[in-house]
Amino acid sequence: MIIVLKPGSGEAEIEHVLERISAMGLQAHLSRGEHRTIIGVIGEEDRLRVAPLSAIPGVEQVLPILKPFKLASREFHRENSVVNVASVAIGGGALAMIAGPCAVEGEELLVEIASQIRAAGANILRGGAFKPRTSPYSFQGLGEDGLKILRAVGDRFQLPVVTEVMDPRQVELVVRYADMLQIGARNMQNFNLLNEVGQARKPVLLKRGMSATVKDLLMSAEYVLASGNPSVVLCERGVRSFEDSTRNMLDLSCVPNVQGQSHLPIIVDPSHATGRPDLIPAMARAAVAAGADGVHVEVHSRPEHALSDGAQALLPNQYAELMTQLKRLAELMGRTIAAGRGGCV
Ligand code: PEP
Ligand code: MN
Repeated sequence: MIIVLKPGSGEAEIEHVLERISAMGLQAHLSRGEHRTIIGVIGEEDRLRVAPLSAIPGVEQVLPILKPFKLASREFHRENSVVNVASVAIGGGALAMIAGPCAVEGEELLVEIASQIRAAGANILRGGAFKPRTSPYSFQGLGEDGLKILRAVGDRFQLPVVTEVMDPRQVELVVRYADMLQIGARNMQNFNLLNEVGQARKPVLLKRGMSATVKDLLMSAEYVLASGNPSVVLCERGVRSFEDSTRNMLDLSCVPNVQGQSHLPIIVDPSHATGRPDLIPAMARAAVAAGADGVHVEVHSRPEHALSDGAQALLPNQYAELMTQLKRLAELMGRTIAAGRGGCV
């Protein structure tokens, strides 16, 4: 940590700060500048993190020099990480195009949607079997039956599948069916769940909490990495704001912001960010232009009958049109989109 003292601090104040630091069991290194006095504080990291340094009278600013996240940081790993979801690479120039319905509702419907998103160029199929719904009376997902359908349809179209896991007790079950485990926005700081997926041998799609800072997001990724799972893809999906004409507010600066600080891939979900099909294509294009490592879009062939998030779903033909644009943009950005593996459809 670096402590910047208030301008014009006198000897007595400096001495007092030094005393307080020493009383906390930390070491202080004084540097007297022409206008400012700065103190470098070193000591055990855990102790440093909890030390109430900014509360010491005379202190103006406390600047951490050790990032609280390490394994997720660029300092730890300079190159962009590439996360492999079955055959699909995400990061390092390769884009994930994740699409599918909010929830798995039935096999026939999922087949209809999967065939169309695959033809449009999506490379990962999504669909929730365990749904985090605001109301306990809303559709909660098909559970294991939904996982079975998702797996079967993914295999049929040779698309890896991603689905949400909401509870540490579900991880073992979901791992059996999914190629990638999604941690939803509402669970971004469910630390027991993060530790549990950290022990799984499947990549994790970690969505930003609706009121989480970029640092919070990276700290949550750190939990997964520190538990032993190196395969984390981050997802910006909008944060709560005062704006009420969109579902959330898409923080696109999160993309280069994260990329500056972390080697982990980051994708964007314009569906949950805007909640509006009329805004999703523009925000998806903006995401690729901003350098995102992929785009996550909800697609439904009969949104008026959807059991969750129907109002924000793109129709398959709208998704296909968007993908045509995204492929051109990706090319311009020097990015590639891995195709599905082909084969029986
Ligand atoms: C979802 O992907 O369907 C979902 C619930 O997303 P989020 O956690 O971002 O709200
Ligand atoms: Mn949804």
